Amino acid sequence: MHCPGAPVRAILPASYFWIRDMHSVEDFDVVVVGAGLGGIYAVHKFTQEGLKAVALEKADSVGGVWNYNRYPGARVDVDSTDYCYSFSPELYREWRWTERYAAQKELLEYLNYTVDKFDLRSRIRLKTGLAKADWRPDEQRYHLETTTGDRLTARFLVMAMGNLSEPRDATIPGISDFKGTVLRSSRWPKHPVWLRDKRVAVVGTGSTGVQTTTVVSQQAKHLSVFQRTAHWVVPAQNGPLDERRYQAYCENTGLIMAGFKNSKLFGGDGAGSPIGAPKPAAQYEPAEQQQRLERQWNIGGQRFHVVFADQTTNKAANDVVSNFVRDKIRGIVKDPVLAEKLCPTFPIGTRRLIQADGYFECFNQDNVSLVDSPIQHMTETGIQTEDGHHEVDVIILALGFKAFTGGINLIDIRNEKGEHPTTHWTKGPRTLFGLMTAGFPNMFTLTGPGSPAVLANLFTQNEYHADWVADCIRYMAERGYASIEPELEAQDRWTARVGEVAMRLLRLQGNDYMVQRNADGTRTFIPWAGGVDAYAEALEGSTAKGYEGFRLRKASEPGRAGGTDAKAGVSA
Ligand code: NAP
Repeated sequence: MHCPGAPVRAILPASYFWIRDMHSVEDFDVVVVGAGLGGIYAVHKFTQEGLKAVALEKADSVGGVWNYNRYPGARVDVDSTDYCYSFSPELYREWRWTERYAAQKELLEYLNYTVDKFDLRSRIRLKTGLAKADWRPDEQRYHLETTTGDRLTARFLVMAMGNLSEPRDATIPGISDFKGTVLRSSRWPKHPVWLRDKRVAVVGTGSTGVQTTTVVSQQAKHLSVFQRTAHWVVPAQNGPLDERRYQAYCENTGLIMAGFKNSKLFGGDGAGSPIGAPKPAAQYEPAEQQQRLERQWNIGGQRFHVVFADQTTNKAANDVVSNFVRDKIRGIVKDPVLAEKLCPTFPIGTRRLIQADGYFECFNQDNVSLVDSPIQHMTETGIQTEDGHHEVDVIILALGFKAFTGGINLIDIRNEKGEHPTTHWTKGPRTLFGLMTAGFPNMFTLTGPGSPAVLANLFTQNEYHADWVADCIRYMAERGYASIEPELEAQDRWTARVGEVAMRLLRLQGNDYMVQRNADGTRTFIPWAGGVDAYAEALEGSTAKGYEGFRLRKASEPGRAGGTDAKAGVSA
């Protein structure tokens, strides 16, 4: 009998749901996880290839980091003319950046514009995260469950979650006792936040904390910057878009785009630098060293990494750069005691160099103070440090991210042995080219650990990887392969190579989020630091040899409980 108000499940026979649930499973060729800059391009690319593809996005809008990181002052630290898609010259010419470094709002508008231009909205499911993924060897497919309860299957699973998507936990004791407002930089609300007339604390002095400080210092009644470590900050020299550079790019889009992909810049050799290709520091006279540094300081930007060819590997060369910047800080900050507190003590560039205009200048303002005493705990009214109590109305946490693995660790992904992709990553990620992990057939990661990732232009690297995956799927379809995964030995060799190229880097000894500190005291550098060009050479070398290092299997191959569909990746 039907009882009014009873849940529908209670009044229908269980078989109804079994049949309904069976029918509600949707089959895809490719499921992309994330609709940030990588996922947007990936779903476009796979659709262009004729594949049935969908992107799952747990947020309520597209954009990834540029959707989440809405904190005051958020902007990119790579020139806008470079930090954009390269796959469409038309898109490149149509979109006009207003500033040298685009602000978050403009970047998000650009990503939305791209989604609309290529008609991708219907292929992106918002507020839908991937909760579970099980590889079924008998079907050569992943069975997926989303956070909304949708059930899907996919021949190919493409993780496009970015490297810095999950915020680091706020482990500061007493945080829930604070009666004021706590804001997290990477989960900033969409509604305007009123900070004028407020006493504000910014905790964290990485890129995010520094950018936040430069803007909030102009708004807050008082701003206290809580610094655990003094960081290196060099000028971005932001300003209006350089019209000549933009026009030159528009006229030569093809060439320029190819250049991005082969750029050695992010490998650290400084080719193409406006101050001339660098030599080791010792090969310049001291006066010449200072001139080069001064010129790069005035130009601004990431190339401060490559003023000298050996500054990332040779401590003496690094000291020349570090001392130059320390002197700049001492020249900017009027209070000499405060200036010393703001001078970093670790070698420059061993953590990601921060770019911001006017950061050190903020500390000359009466409404800004630096707190470098260690935080003990939060209280109802503020923050207790070793040297006293600091009353505030708003606390902004800019504590960084669970880099590289934060996103994937939230998803219950299982292979046929019941393992998670990170099960064997206790001494650092183990991947082949940062694209795949042994034991997880048909699961690809865009800009994953072991690829140039955060050391490269993330737009072009995501495009490069999505193109590679699309080519691989086509190759498999044409030859009747159902699955691909790395051979363990090839993965071990690549993982060892990733470690070897990082050995010479001073930053391996630092506290960069790119370094995993292992339980046995060893350190693992996570991205590939050997340069974008060397990476492409290795990956394309493998591809040209029929995906050397990867194991390709047909559906009917012994050892697999065989399906019969040999045409992997092709939609019915
Ligand atoms: P981050 O560089 O990891 O900095 C986190 C900051 O929080 C550090 O100052 C850290 O102190 C501090 N912190 C962490 N836990 C703390 C605790 N329990 N108590 C006190 N302080 C604590 O994170 P981020 O600033 O978000 O930047 C991460 C990366 O995101 C950047 O390197 C960059 O790759 C990217 N990013 C890019 C842009 C851009 O394009 N412009 C902007 C923002 C971020 P310690 O230094 O002592 O560890």
